[in-house]
Amino acid sequence: MLEVADLSAGYGQIEVLHGLSFRVPQGQVVTLIGSNGAGKTTTMRTLSGMIRPRSGSIRLKGREIAGLDSHVVARAGLAHSPEGRRVFPSLSVEDNLTLGAFPRLTGSRAKGDVAADRERAFALFPRLKERRAQPAGTLSGGEQQMLAMGRALMLRPEVLLLDEPSMGLAPKLVEEVFNIIRRLKEEKVTMLLVEQFALAALGVADYGYVLENGRIRFEGPAAQLKEDPAVRSAYLGSH
Ligand code: ATP
Repeated sequence: MLEVADLSAGYGQIEVLHGLSFRVPQGQVVTLIGSNGAGKTTTMRTLSGMIRPRSGSIRLKGREIAGLDSHVVARAGLAHSPEGRRVFPSLSVEDNLTLGAFPRLTGSRAKGDVAADRERAFALFPRLKERRAQPAGTLSGGEQQMLAMGRALMLRPEVLLLDEPSMGLAPKLVEEVFNIIRRLKEEKVTMLLVEQFALAALGVADYGYVLENGRIRFEGPAAQLKEDPAVRSAYLGSH
């Protein structure tokens, strides 16, 4: 579904990613783990077209998307739920969701029923439904995080990029977010997940890659990475 080969990218003169290669197969959840500054967010930004790669290839369903503008990438079916709470604060919850469907409506992909998709998002995130008419900027941090995820889903993405969906959430909400990821997985939504809770991410993922200083250091089935002594001691906080 998503195939990344020899991807290098960075900011200005600084190269952060040095030749990454990884795959996200259809219907699977793949996680990227690694310590702070390893390049996880930079990888997500490069995939979604926010940063132009220096070199390498990004193929979505066989189509090369490296170097395309982010709105073209979204139209091709790659949805990015970014780190932090990127919602339109003055627009209502409902309008934020509707905007998430917009690239789909202008592209050649299935148009479908936006209202039905909004209801589906409300079914996943009931607390958004209660606040559907409220300006998004007045939601709590956790609710805004959920809105960012809901908006990305409105694209009916081929691949959903989730960058730290649990960031800044209270433990109970973190659990709720992971339950939603599990539900989406049951619905065969293809996902690339970056999480500070590496153990929880490996718990829900099929396959994992460990990023270190912009390079992939280890990879393997998630269950195997979880048990790997080198991965555990370096990244999972146990020895
Ligand atoms: P974290 O878990 O802390 O979010 P990360 O693995 O997501 O870390 P990135 O945010 O991708 O890491 O950062 C990788 C490197 O790129 C860091 O050295 C960071 O300082 C640098 N970097 C990130 N964003 C920018 C930017 N906008 N301009 C310049 N350098 C940046």
